[in-house]
Amino acid sequence: MAFDGERASSMVEELRGSFSTGKTRGYEWRAKQLKAIERMINEKEEDIVEALRSDLSKPHFESFLHEVSMAKSSCQFALKNLKQWMKPEKVSSSLSTYPSSASIVPEPFGVVLIISAWNYPFLLSLDPVIGAIAAGNTVVLKPSEISPATASLFTRILPDYVDTSCVRIVEGAVPETTALLEQRWDKIFYTGNGKVGRIVMAAAAKHLTPVVLELGGKSPVVVDSDIDLKVSTRRIVVGKWGSNNGQACIAPDYIITTKSFAAKLVDALKSTLEEFYGKDPLETEDLSRIVNSNHFTRLANLLDDDKVSGKIVYGGNLDEKRLKIAPTLLLDVPENSRIMKEEIFGPLLPIITVDKIEDSFALINSRTKPLAAYLFTKKKNLQKMFVETVSCGGMLINDTTLHLANPYLPFGGVGESGTGSYHGKFSFDAFSHKKSVLSRGFGGEVSARYPPYTPWKQNLLRALLAGNIISVVMALFARRS
Ligand code: NAD
Repeated sequence: MAFDGERASSMVEELRGSFSTGKTRGYEWRAKQLKAIERMINEKEEDIVEALRSDLSKPHFESFLHEVSMAKSSCQFALKNLKQWMKPEKVSSSLSTYPSSASIVPEPFGVVLIISAWNYPFLLSLDPVIGAIAAGNTVVLKPSEISPATASLFTRILPDYVDTSCVRIVEGAVPETTALLEQRWDKIFYTGNGKVGRIVMAAAAKHLTPVVLELGGKSPVVVDSDIDLKVSTRRIVVGKWGSNNGQACIAPDYIITTKSFAAKLVDALKSTLEEFYGKDPLETEDLSRIVNSNHFTRLANLLDDDKVSGKIVYGGNLDEKRLKIAPTLLLDVPENSRIMKEEIFGPLLPIITVDKIEDSFALINSRTKPLAAYLFTKKKNLQKMFVETVSCGGMLINDTTLHLANPYLPFGGVGESGTGSYHGKFSFDAFSHKKSVLSRGFGGEVSARYPPYTPWKQNLLRALLAGNIISVVMALFARRS
């Protein structure tokens, strides 16, 4: 039976019913689900790795490091901190509300929809689910149809571990997602491209549903000449090709360096690539393949552009049958080429040059705001300038992609690269409404609040609101005299 609007509507209704029983609100339910998810990750590790191999030929090492162990860490971090996160946060009261006590109480939104992408299909699905459950919500997960093995693995295994009256999975593509998006959700969390991000936001607007949009963009790497060249190139190469062969939202998209340093950098990148992936990288098992033929053709077309012909300085080999593309470096590609206009999301890395390294910051800011930005330099003043002037979702100095592994940092974009963030406590916050609670007793009456409004009352209130004790005393005195 097709998953249509009717089925989507009854699923949401059921989840709303479960939410209204209040069972997801307590610590016990949340902790039980999180422990079960952790157990699932432990018990099903081999199945997860196998599904990722089937969807992307993802190397075992990367599947373990970037998907299995990161999802497990998220779960463990949430379990360790959940009690603390759930506590109301006491805040100060102001003079104008005296006497009173004030707190911020996190409450679950209710029924949330998570739509995830194909490139880290296990982590990008489960990580937000962990946040949504930690925050006490009921959840529908819609994994990506482009990674079908992982999507169907979720359908097979997740129901054996979690409370299915509160957590559901819907497999499907555009029609199923459209049916889901027609429903009224209390929060929508979407990971994917900005075009669909706009569809999600428009659907959410109909019900005034808040959204988190985890999008992408062209994440630049600025490389100064004052660096440890060997360490820098290793970190650039592993961040680009060791992240799903460039099919990662925060993989370096292009490099900016100076004209005078470019040749040296290209040589160093070439020798690191050869050290990591050998002389024929199409044969290595340490690189993922391109996810499908549509994406393969998209990437092949980026290379097959008059504007970039003659610019390939390394790689450029393609194997359409096996959906493989070798790590490819391009030097001095024009800014108006397609490869410099679109997010690459694959193993191609263009390098553009500037006269002075400082010029790269204005260049980045002249484009749409990227999800990540990287800088390699030993110069402290350049690092400071980078932090102070470049606008992006998150940045990292002297490495690539690792900022995502710190649960104390929010992960998300800004502008075209997204809105909202998650990871660690930020995941809990993304799925919680911060309810303000002000509580008063019956004493401490200030009759000046009440009509009839007289000049002395206004003077007293002005003094109170200004926090000026002398004026308060004077206003009270004026009333008596
Ligand atoms: P995708 O094709 O898997 O699409 C994402 C989701 O949107 C899927 O679940 C899909 O079913 C749904 N979808 C597709 N078309 C739709 C439509 N017309 N209406 C409703 N739903 C629709 O993934 P993708 O977009 O190719 O993912 C790659 C993009 O995601 C890149 O831009 C990348 O940078 C970004 N990304 C961002 C993050 C992040 O954390 N910020 C992580 C991964 C990927």
